[in-house]
Amino acid sequence: MGYTVVNPYSGKVLKKFATLSDAEVETALNKAEEFYQQQKKVAVAVRAEKLKRFGAVLLKNKEKLAREAALNMGKRLSEGRGEVELCAKLAEYYANNAALLQPKPYSYGAGKKAFLEYHSLGIIASVEPWNFPYSQVVRVLAPNYLIGNPVVLKHAGIVAGCAELLEKLVQEAGWEEGAFKNLFVSHDQVSKIIADKRVQGVALTGSEAAGRTIAGAAGKSLIKSTMELGGSDAFAILDDADLKLAIADATAARLRNSGQVCTSAKRFIVEKAVAEEFIEGIKQTFAAKKMGDPLDETTELAPLSSHSAAVGLQTQVDEAVQHGAEILVDGGVVEGQGNFFKPVVLADIAPDNPAYRQEFFGPVAQVFVVENDEQVVALANDSDFGLAGAVYGKDEERAHRVASQIETGQVFINRPSGAYPELPFGGVKNSGYGREMSDLGLYEFTNQKIIVFN
Ligand code: NAP
Repeated sequence: MGYTVVNPYSGKVLKKFATLSDAEVETALNKAEEFYQQQKKVAVAVRAEKLKRFGAVLLKNKEKLAREAALNMGKRLSEGRGEVELCAKLAEYYANNAALLQPKPYSYGAGKKAFLEYHSLGIIASVEPWNFPYSQVVRVLAPNYLIGNPVVLKHAGIVAGCAELLEKLVQEAGWEEGAFKNLFVSHDQVSKIIADKRVQGVALTGSEAAGRTIAGAAGKSLIKSTMELGGSDAFAILDDADLKLAIADATAARLRNSGQVCTSAKRFIVEKAVAEEFIEGIKQTFAAKKMGDPLDETTELAPLSSHSAAVGLQTQVDEAVQHGAEILVDGGVVEGQGNFFKPVVLADIAPDNPAYRQEFFGPVAQVFVVENDEQVVALANDSDFGLAGAVYGKDEERAHRVASQIETGQVFINRPSGAYPELPFGGVKNSGYGREMSDLGLYEFTNQKIIVFN
């Protein structure tokens, strides 16, 4: 298996990379292990400084990074720039919060003292998806670098150019050899890496299927894992919602990154009193999006990441319609150059329709009309996923009550779901487990060791 980059707009093959040999993987693991051993003697503050430098290098190379993402997986330039800025903020957040690794005092018995210390664990394998080719990597890399865990990356095949560039920028920031290594490896080699005794953790962001395989491999090796998997987030519109805001945010949240976002608003659950107006609003905004080259600043909707992604999404839509779904906005695969997919809005999706339980990873929205808050919660929770969600309503206490009852990892009130370095990010149910970003993300792969005094 090799790694091939195909421009989603032109269909042209841009770059090809050979898969590494097992000997090359062994060399990379040896270097990573050396970094782990050496860094035990280095103060956290030293790595914090280098994290800051990495953030600055990312910002300096913002245009280059955004262009590479556009060419690898079709991200619009403005969205690519936003992703790079998030990466820089992540680096800065962890650089500025090294104090989170200070020992935490505990006491036991009649006031006897103890301290919880945070230590590095060893090599962390990071298996990442193409849809956020930089920030998904940096979410794992930044906290683990701070603690002193080396990271070896297995990136998605289609964004090999992004993986290569990110590695170069880490080098430009002056990080130690072994701190971060991109590996062009096969799935079998990933299993071998996870089975290696020096590897002490694995972080996956990807599909449910990959989650089951990688979590299984981690379980076999008895190492810690975090799973950031798919979602079918509820976007609830209560009858007192600011509809102008809800319509604008629902459209932006569903069509961001051409709909290829794990925490995208995939199910609009709207209360009957405001349903007609909401539906009319999104019909217009969805249909009005201008499709085009991701490198063209005026493009509003870029092609999907690959031809197979577009074909797979069309199959899901066709199946949904065959099972009785109504088409509110008609779209789908656009024949001709580029993996274009015109936005689709579906309604009347019954619980026995396969679409009811699936994740649609592209510009396809589902609309459900319900009577009251209780039905909002019941429908939001009738899902195999639980990654994020949003609740829109002017009465914040009421919106908060609804948000608290949704079985998910994150809920945003009167704003679309997003990623913030200061806030924990992760899911429940088939959306996975563990948290990235914030203090929680830092502690996922640390040895939290208690030192107890008599
Ligand atoms: P994917 O096919 O599961 O791929 C994700 C990564 O896992 C890629 O690097 C892929 O490598 C690798 N991989 C897949 N199967 C593997 C196996 N058996 N052994 C070793 N490595 C394996 O997912 P995707 O299609 O790229 O990404 C879309 C999915 O990710 C969606 O479900 C989305 O919701 C989810 N996602 C979740 C989050 C989150 O934070 N929760 C964020 C973004 C995306 P190859 O490319 O070489 O196959």
